[in-house]
Amino acid sequence: MQLLDGKKLAQEIKKEIAAEVNRLRQANQRLPKLALILVGNRSDSVSYVNSKEKNCHALGMECIKYHLPEETTQEALLQILQQLNDDSNVDGILVQLPLPAHIDTGRVLENIDYQKDADGLHHVNLGLMLMGDPYVLPCTPNGILHILKRYNIPMDGQKAVVVGRSILVGAPTAILLQQHHATVTQCHSHTRNLAEICRDADIVVTAAGVPGLLRPEDLKDGAVLVDVAMNHDDNGLCGDIYSKSTAPVLEQRLAAATPVPGGVGPMTIAMLMYNVLQLYKKHETSK
Ligand code: NAP
Repeated sequence: MQLLDGKKLAQEIKKEIAAEVNRLRQANQRLPKLALILVGNRSDSVSYVNSKEKNCHALGMECIKYHLPEETTQEALLQILQQLNDDSNVDGILVQLPLPAHIDTGRVLENIDYQKDADGLHHVNLGLMLMGDPYVLPCTPNGILHILKRYNIPMDGQKAVVVGRSILVGAPTAILLQQHHATVTQCHSHTRNLAEICRDADIVVTAAGVPGLLRPEDLKDGAVLVDVAMNHDDNGLCGDIYSKSTAPVLEQRLAAATPVPGGVGPMTIAMLMYNVLQLYKKHETSK
């Protein structure tokens, strides 16, 4: 089985981004800049935002972080977004989710200029992606696509199953696979005979968040597995199928698989950095 090493690929992509940013620095050009907004003190959100900030700095990009108190009003948040939308030195904006309950998340996200949407989840960007003319792609689905492409996994004409239909992962991943000419079946919690459907697939992408959702024998011999989920079992981090205990069986059966950890996870942050650089380039060429 070929290990689809997302950690290694993410490092390569980040190295390429750092080299591009370094060329801009040497040419005394303006540098790509990401604005991060965090409301409240959820410990997981604090650590995600810190990691995004750290990655920006490590790649030589600029980053401005707004860590706002839990009681920040929606109006105040929208005002900050307006300032960032108007600031020609800011290329990407990311509001860390979830927001506190008194804030309307949809309203906030739609107030980010879609041309600065670092996450690629603005409704305009999802629409453009659906039309096959993307401005910027959602990070995790784009990370999955990069893994499949860089490891030369054929998609054209292949039967693909995507388990999960969230806007964050499952729905855009199914669209991207279909645009790469896979025949896609999208599964979700109402799907009947999930294992049977998966056994027929050449590529299985799982993003349900249910450890042990499928067993290795629910995949056909020679299939490709992209396990997006980040669950926990007794042995630590695991996917919906991939875990320390299933890995040896998967290795015998599959053509290729993303490990958990070290598969899709590291690609998500690399794709965020990639998006900021892409937004910067579009921003500069439109001036
Ligand atoms: P989500 O919004 O909770 O969506 C989960 C999806 O899985 C839903 O569409 C749900 O179906 C489906 N599902 C749940 N139980 C199922 C079952 N028993 N059988 C079939 N489908 C089932 O989660 P998400 O944000 O998409 O994230 C999914 C997983 O990916 C989580 O483990 C998350 O931690 C992980 N994740 C990883 C990364 C990364 O970078 N590696 C990034 C984002 C998310 P319904 O629509 O019918 O409810």
